[in-house]
Amino acid sequence: MGAMKVIYPGSFDPPTNGHFDIMNRAAAIFEELEIVIADNPQKKYLFSADERFEMITTMVAEYPNVQVTIWRGLIVDFAEKIGAKVILRGVRALSDFDYEFELSMMNRALNPRIETLFMPTDQKYFVLRSSGIKEVAMFGGDISEMVPTIVEQKLLARIGKQTQQT
Ligand code: ADP
Repeated sequence: MGAMKVIYPGSFDPPTNGHFDIMNRAAAIFEELEIVIADNPQKKYLFSADERFEMITTMVAEYPNVQVTIWRGLIVDFAEKIGAKVILRGVRALSDFDYEFELSMMNRALNPRIETLFMPTDQKYFVLRSSGIKEVAMFGGDISEMVPTIVEQKLLARIGKQTQQT
């Protein structure tokens, strides 16, 4: 068996301290962690795939066993392509579970050789979600405890620009 690879996919629009906690914990147990930035042409993002890539790359710069990729396709196809057998997803409240369970069933139907594993969030990050953080930033709230510094800077710059436009 080759090195135990895991992929952690998500929109990461933007990445939060909750995502970062999952990345840290996964990097400590798996030999290789591949963070996959999903870029779905049907979805509207605040940050482009390249911008999300830049933020996450900065966040994990010190980790020798972590890589970041942008993928515009099915996650199970990416897993198959790089020889990863595990998809990792983070879960917060029970409300996440509904969606995550369904997604895992879908992925299993698409490719039964790939397993989904769930990692529960640390209680410190229980309420953190990208959409909520964008809203807090929009209304001028303090997000410094919710996202890494690089993300805070990008978010404030982006929102500042948007406010000027209107
Ligand atoms: P998606 O848009 O693919 O649902 P997100 O970018 O919102 O993904 O999140 C990627 C993964 O990280 C998902 O599995 C999500 O449940 C998980 N996640 C999001 N926020 C947190 C958090 N605060 N703690 C732990 N896991 C989280």
